[in-house]
Amino acid sequence: MTSPDPKAFDTLPLSAATLATLQQLGYAAMTPVQAAALPLALAGHDLIAQAQTGSGKTAAFALALLARLDMQRTDTQALVLCPTRELADQVALEVRRLARAASNVKVLVLCGGAPIKPQADSLAHGAHVVVGTPGRLIDHLERGTLVLDALQTLVLDEADRMLDMGFMDDIASIASRAPKARQTLLFSATYPEGIQQLAKKFLREPKEVSLTQRPGSQQIRQRWYEVTEEERLHAVGLLLNHWRPASTLAFCNTKQQCRDLVDVLQAQGISALALHGDLEQRDRDQVLVRFTNRSCSVLVATDVAARGLDIAQLEAVINVEITPDVEVHTHRIGRTGRAGESGWAFSLASLEEMGRVGRIEQLQGQAPDFHPLAELTSSDSTPLQPPMVTIQILGGRKEKIRAGDVLGALTKDAGIPGAQVGKINVNDFSTYVAVARTVARQAEQALNNKPVKGKRVKARVLE
Ligand code: AMP
Repeated sequence: MTSPDPKAFDTLPLSAATLATLQQLGYAAMTPVQAAALPLALAGHDLIAQAQTGSGKTAAFALALLARLDMQRTDTQALVLCPTRELADQVALEVRRLARAASNVKVLVLCGGAPIKPQADSLAHGAHVVVGTPGRLIDHLERGTLVLDALQTLVLDEADRMLDMGFMDDIASIASRAPKARQTLLFSATYPEGIQQLAKKFLREPKEVSLTQRPGSQQIRQRWYEVTEEERLHAVGLLLNHWRPASTLAFCNTKQQCRDLVDVLQAQGISALALHGDLEQRDRDQVLVRFTNRSCSVLVATDVAARGLDIAQLEAVINVEITPDVEVHTHRIGRTGRAGESGWAFSLASLEEMGRVGRIEQLQGQAPDFHPLAELTSSDSTPLQPPMVTIQILGGRKEKIRAGDVLGALTKDAGIPGAQVGKINVNDFSTYVAVARTVARQAEQALNNKPVKGKRVKARVLE
């Protein structure tokens, strides 16, 4: 007799429709954190789970909160607190993906940086699941636009980061407005002192889930290159043209270096965009859309700007400079090689940075694998190009454009095969659609010439 695979999703008390969705999404087996957390969470226990971005933690709490929803009601039954808007957007995306089978689960994101009135209007129509950042959630609670009387599940995602960002009081204030008889799930990458305090205050007899080995860490292949200051930025282009990763996150220590690197890469014909604190929210959104839909090869970011980002399918991480904080190094390279995929972590170190390299070596218990820059030769003379191109349509949610309308305009009206159309992101005022590079002009023309949802729109390729 064969015993059932302990990591199969069908060992869990999930509906047939949810199991089918998981299969459609290609989630063949549970990740370690899911295997440890889901049986407990689905049984109704409070949890403290140690999990990093990339471990599959979102699905771990999303499946638990979705299983408890009563679709006969329209009140808010689950609330997920996140440290950043980007993380909230990503969590909402995953919850919606997993809720596909259940009809009409409404998931609403409430974060600062967006006008409050439309959020209040959406709340008035009912939202089963709310995902948001603490400050804005408090605003809504104080205005009475968000009510937690029917809350079943409270999730604290990246709790350590929320504490770092000074959200302790806000979390307390939000939790105090939720019913006591609720389930609370706390996810955190680390366990600083404050996490214990949080758990003591807001969790009831929590079960602890901790995984000693970071999943996927063995999948990250590290290479080091010694560079002079003059060689450093140019070396990034050499790395990219040699290894040709489709998506790379390059970390700089300063905003100025981010800008300089983007200039150097763009001059070499490589598609690169910078993400740093000086960007307006709208520009930041656009940069992230272009990178995550695979129409930009390199995202150049500072650590602060990259906080909370979860980018699936990151083939490489480049440390343009070595960070003085050894833990930050581990965090940076941990962004590649996720969910069973392998990833590269390249680090450029000058002689002055060798002390930092030594400390990283100590922490990792592994000697850095140094290679000469001269090894980086490109077999292909064309600069690295991303597989997709983004087309921006001027018009979004406000114009009632939906992803299906854009897909229809491209596939039905313009005859572009569906497989050539990538991610479609509908924002308030803009819609972004990724299409294969080979059909970009055809798609742009079609969108400009044929009405979308009965209306003429303006569309342009973003390069
Ligand atoms: P997270 O740690 O929640 O940010 O998830 C990282 C990525 O793994 C996301 O892109 C998920 O869609 C994906 N993922 C989550 N669970 C699974 C699974 N069981 N199998 C394959 N991919 C998964």
